[in-house]
Amino acid sequence: MSSLFPSLTHDPGDQVALRFGDRSLSYARLAAAAGAVGERVRGRPRVAVWATPSLETAVGVVGVLLAGVAAVPLNPKSGAAELAHILRDSAPALVLAAPGDELPEPLRDLPRLDVDVDAAGPRPDDGDAGDGDPALVVYTSGTTGPPKGAVIPRRAIAATLDALADAWQWTGADVLVHGLPLFHVHGLVLGVLGPLRRGGSVRHLGRFTAEGVARELGGGATMLFGVPTMYHRLAEALPGDPELAKALAGARLLVSGSAALPVHDHERIAAATGRRVIERYGMTETLMNTSVRADGEPRAGTVGVPLPGVELRLVEEDGSLVAAYDGETVGEIQVRGPNLFTEYLNRPDATAAAFTADGWFRTGDMAVREPDGYVRIVGRKATDLIKSGGFKIGAGEIENALLEHLGVREAAVTGEPDADLGERIVAWIVPVDPQAPPGAEELADHVAARLAPHKRPRTVRYLDALPRNDMGKIMKRALTHG
Ligand code: ATP
Ligand code: MG
Repeated sequence: MSSLFPSLTHDPGDQVALRFGDRSLSYARLAAAAGAVGERVRGRPRVAVWATPSLETAVGVVGVLLAGVAAVPLNPKSGAAELAHILRDSAPALVLAAPGDELPEPLRDLPRLDVDVDAAGPRPDDGDAGDGDPALVVYTSGTTGPPKGAVIPRRAIAATLDALADAWQWTGADVLVHGLPLFHVHGLVLGVLGPLRRGGSVRHLGRFTAEGVARELGGGATMLFGVPTMYHRLAEALPGDPELAKALAGARLLVSGSAALPVHDHERIAAATGRRVIERYGMTETLMNTSVRADGEPRAGTVGVPLPGVELRLVEEDGSLVAAYDGETVGEIQVRGPNLFTEYLNRPDATAAAFTADGWFRTGDMAVREPDGYVRIVGRKATDLIKSGGFKIGAGEIENALLEHLGVREAAVTGEPDADLGERIVAWIVPVDPQAPPGAEELADHVAARLAPHKRPRTVRYLDALPRNDMGKIMKRALTHG
């Protein structure tokens, strides 16, 4: 297979590849430092990377991939039990870290290699690696259960990044503003490997702030990748920040993913900047499946169309296909294509259960398709589909309606067992003013006025904050009564 990063393996030049805070590396220096990592890891099956948001993590992962070895990114915020599980499961030969990183107990028995970004090794060359060879083992977010290690082959990385290049008109001239962690596919594959495959550059903010976004987009960067919680913060900051509004208005592309972007935040950003955020939909197991295209029409609440090379279908509970693009008939999204993972490490049972007999991956996400093919995700089968009074109701549209209420800061909707209805719609609300939260009756009427009477929440519970994971995703499993 040809190189994952031609800009590093063929005559890398002096243009900036990576900048983290005030430290940066040119393509030539990145190639040299990655080559030094490669010398030390070549021939090992798997290498763990202590994935802090740093130059060292980026150099380490690129060095490992260019040596034809698989990298296992570790979330530095993981607890000891989770880290121990991942180490047992993935059995890495060593762990890469930045000099000075303090590694927690479960990692101390593993040989450690400090990444030196100033080192110079032989020119990396991944020409011998096969397209089905594992490139990454990424543990799923654990939103719905204990993390599983998705084995991502080299071909999937190339396929997804090239499909996005087509959809987003993404080139080496693009400069990405990045504020995400590096232990998941969003921040690592899209945010670091993506720009490097194109020959462009990355400016990582360290910690995401609205000021950092305004500074970088105002100073020549062209794209922003973020999760919905980041766009929520931008939407909140925009009214008092004309610099930010100007910077966002000038960006070539604002992209959101990893969870649904609330329609309310999408609309507020559009109103303040004249720019619409585009959404893409992906998973650890599939990398990217759909996106609104740069030359397409951004539409709030939709994730666009299947990317080139990705086959997508909606399937009803009885296994029949949803053929109608009517914007109403809900089915499970199943996908097929070169972007898919190969297996869950050491979990043949889970791998087998994840695929249909004819090789489609069951995403567990429920969606409808609009008449023109746009995909609108309704929610996850396991936690977002409420069966109430004979209806199947998606939590997402109720959440979007609740977020339009001026007294609501955050909202999540779940179903709870109910003797009459089967399931009862429950709204979990973080009020703007905890002293004067909007009442349950008022919120239910607000929803019923926008959607339909059977979609009104029967119970409203108030919280100080929603339980979220490190990617800002709402952990619905933690939203239980009592
Ligand atoms: P786990 O599988 O461990 O429970 P997870 O599914 O949250 O965790 P990821 O692979 O990081 O782990 O996330 C993929 C999921 O995120 C998708 O299945 C989908 O539910 C959701 N998602 C991603 N992008 C979007 C989007 N644009 N809109 C709505 N949901 C999205
Ligand atoms: Mg998942």
